[in-house]
Amino acid sequence: MTHVITRACCNDAACVPVCPTSCIHPTPDEPDYATAEMLYIDPDGCIDCGACVDVCPVGAISADYDLEPHQARFEEMNRRWFLAAPPPPVKPPESRDRLAPPAESGGVAPLRVAIVGSGPSAAYAAEELLGQRGLDVRIDIVERLLTPGGLVRFGVAPDHQDTKSAGEALAKVLRRPTVRALLGIEVGRDLDPADLLARYHAVIYATGAAADRALGIPGEDLAGSIAATELVAWYNGHPDAASLRVPLEHERAVVIGNGNVALDVARVLLSPPEVLARTDIADHALDSLRRSRVREVVVVGRRGPVQAAFTTPELVALLESEDLGLAVDLPGGIAMPETHPDPIMNLRLELLREAMGRSGAERVLRLRFHGAPRRIEGTDRVEGVTIAETRMGVADDRDHLLATDRSETLACGLVVRAVGYRRHHVPGLPAPSDGSPVAHREGRVVGAEGHVLDGVYVTGWAKRGANGVIGTNKRCAQETVRSVLADHAAGLLSVSDGTDLLTCVPQAHGVDDWRVLDEHERAEGRAQRRPRVKLVAETAQRDVLAGAAR
Ligand code: NAP
Repeated sequence: MTHVITRACCNDAACVPVCPTSCIHPTPDEPDYATAEMLYIDPDGCIDCGACVDVCPVGAISADYDLEPHQARFEEMNRRWFLAAPPPPVKPPESRDRLAPPAESGGVAPLRVAIVGSGPSAAYAAEELLGQRGLDVRIDIVERLLTPGGLVRFGVAPDHQDTKSAGEALAKVLRRPTVRALLGIEVGRDLDPADLLARYHAVIYATGAAADRALGIPGEDLAGSIAATELVAWYNGHPDAASLRVPLEHERAVVIGNGNVALDVARVLLSPPEVLARTDIADHALDSLRRSRVREVVVVGRRGPVQAAFTTPELVALLESEDLGLAVDLPGGIAMPETHPDPIMNLRLELLREAMGRSGAERVLRLRFHGAPRRIEGTDRVEGVTIAETRMGVADDRDHLLATDRSETLACGLVVRAVGYRRHHVPGLPAPSDGSPVAHREGRVVGAEGHVLDGVYVTGWAKRGANGVIGTNKRCAQETVRSVLADHAAGLLSVSDGTDLLTCVPQAHGVDDWRVLDEHERAEGRAQRRPRVKLVAETAQRDVLAGAAR
């Protein structure tokens, strides 16, 4: 018997140090960790103790005898990963002793840190700071919205509630007496970065990457051509996207790009409303999707099955879905590769071959490979999308995308551009204007002249770009916090203004206000047998707060 890691794995590796037989890999110290789609348990090493189950923040680990039927393939997947070279022994965990305090502080002044943003990378940075033995640290989390959570609340798909339990990291941080939340405060609008820098030894920007990337093809601006960033924000109840108009009258929608965001969007567009009605999807999106005529979503990837950006765990989950059919399309003349040296890639190819042989279902997600978008068709709204057939070639020992002169137009009423995320600009924070990651050295922000800016740090997607899964941000935050602590120990960090930030932003809401909103949403959810019913508009949120204050 063994334990098995399943789809929801967030790669935060909390399970690694608690495993008495070191059988969970890749560990953060191993080279494969940076690119691993998930972690795996070696069935030959597992002694079935269940220690990993207790610490997994997203409930991704089960004993093999407890696996649900739709999770059965993950047992095979865990086993197969170890068919590759055996992993090296695990290094002992790093000491969490703090670095020496600066001499002039005498080690008594608390380290004051502001974290901008409240998503997973902010939570991991705060956790890491709070976990330093003997360090007196005060943290203020500054968040633009009244509802914290960032990607967990507004990015993770509503049908992935297990992944949303990663939000518990933030909830725990916010329960600590040395942590405050300043909600409804936007840096660049209500505050200057300089206001923060004067009051805190360190300011960590964990502002993510929530802006869309453009395709740069004709027709991209037609009504019905929507960025995945907007659609995801719409169905997750982000106040900025509540009024988005999503045309769902045509029976086909096309998603450009085939990363995990593309799969999330396709699943949500195709899920039966009664399934979505058990989630925390925003009510306005649920109402629209109840009337939706979409029955086929074509997910178009410009390269082949081996290069596709989605991860194998997400493909397994799709194949096991009872609610939708999976189809796979390759242009004529291209065969599904037979085999691959990487055992997990081999499994992916087997799964895709299995899907190719399937017959129709009422709601179909169609994975279309080797199609590069050329033009979005239509006069005043989307009527289709033309894709050029591609081939993979090899140049300089690397895969290379080649265009052919064959093309096809897919009729549809909605095109979703799921081609990655860019960083939003934070006024006053030096960063490239094209939305690419903030320049940094081990998390220390580098200014326009190429010098490190004392006291300014970055973590998460703003630092690395939009890649990895939620737990990848933990390792990233650890690096940034190590830099903060080293700079603190070297006496490089100082505070020039001893006044409380609240004197600049007295309108800020605190964690108690968030608790009122959270409890309200959960209570509404209980009444409807849902995890929560989201309050979307800020006016609605303020009404609830005003009602609670009376
Ligand atoms: P992504 O994984 O980087 O995928 C982007 C997709 O867009 C790729 O298929 C890419 O194709 C395609 N693309 C880019 N430019 C294009 C162009 N000009 N024309 C056509 N296609 C283009 O990004 P993502 O899906 O937004 O995901 C962001 C990160 O969040 C990823 O690390 C993802 O795994 C993670 N995420 C994870 C989950 C989960 O674990 N459940 C859910 C959502 C997101 P090429 O590959 O050919 O460049």
